[in-house]
Amino acid sequence: MTTVTDPDLFDLEHAALAEAGLVFDDAHAPAGIYRLALGELIGHYERLLRETGRLIRRSDRQEREMTVLNQRLQALALSLEYRARHDTLTGVLNRGAVIELSNELLSRCDMALIVLDLDHFKRINDTYGHPAGDTVLQTVVAHLQAVVPETGEIGRVGGEEFTVMLPHTSLDEALEIAERMRAAVAAHIFGAPIERNVTASFGVSWNDTGTPFESAYARADEALYIAKRNGRDQVVRARD
Ligand code: GH3
Ligand code: MG
Ligand code: MG
Repeated sequence: MTTVTDPDLFDLEHAALAEAGLVFDDAHAPAGIYRLALGELIGHYERLLRETGRLIRRSDRQEREMTVLNQRLQALALSLEYRARHDTLTGVLNRGAVIELSNELLSRCDMALIVLDLDHFKRINDTYGHPAGDTVLQTVVAHLQAVVPETGEIGRVGGEEFTVMLPHTSLDEALEIAERMRAAVAAHIFGAPIERNVTASFGVSWNDTGTPFESAYARADEALYIAKRNGRDQVVRARD
């Protein structure tokens, strides 16, 4: 490909210019010689205009293509980042993102943490099949999303275990949110083939600024375990 930096690209124009210069310097040159030199210059000038126009159009096109490629690259990077942080089945944050976000939030504010686990979920899979189980997981998340405040974040930390991160939220508020979530899940009657409700058990911890995620989670999980032991479908607060 030729570019404007090629040393011989304008050889013809330089030669025509030098020739015209000689004619110009000769005050007594006959009109025919002037005409010839001018004709040569016109020809080369037209070629230069065409060539310049072509180069400008090509560089405009390449710039447009580059912009489109950049936009695609940006969208791809965003979608990769989204996929790296989200659970594909339910769309909520995945385990890694939950740990990262919790630690980040807890480093600068207090946070209530809800841990919930579906009750006897294995039976759903065993009785109605894995796809029916997947639908239950998606539906439960939709109910959690309908209740969670704008400042909260939902995550899936295990197969049928979720967390709700609630920054700047008191224990009483978090218990109330968990109770609304519990009631919403329990009230939903699934369509065929399940045709009944599915319940979940909840543990809730309140954690001061600086608490590591592991201890916030461990205390909520311990409360969840008590909720399971006490008969499931209930909310239990973590010990202080
Ligand atoms: P418990 O009330 O004590 O929590 O009982 P459980 O049956 O809910 O608990 P268990 O840990 O025995 O079973 C959890 C089941 O969740 C087992 C596993 O096959 C299922 N599971 C995990 N991930 C998925 C998923 O992505 N889709 C479906 N359909 N099932 C899943
Ligand atoms: Mg379970
Ligand atoms: Mg479980």
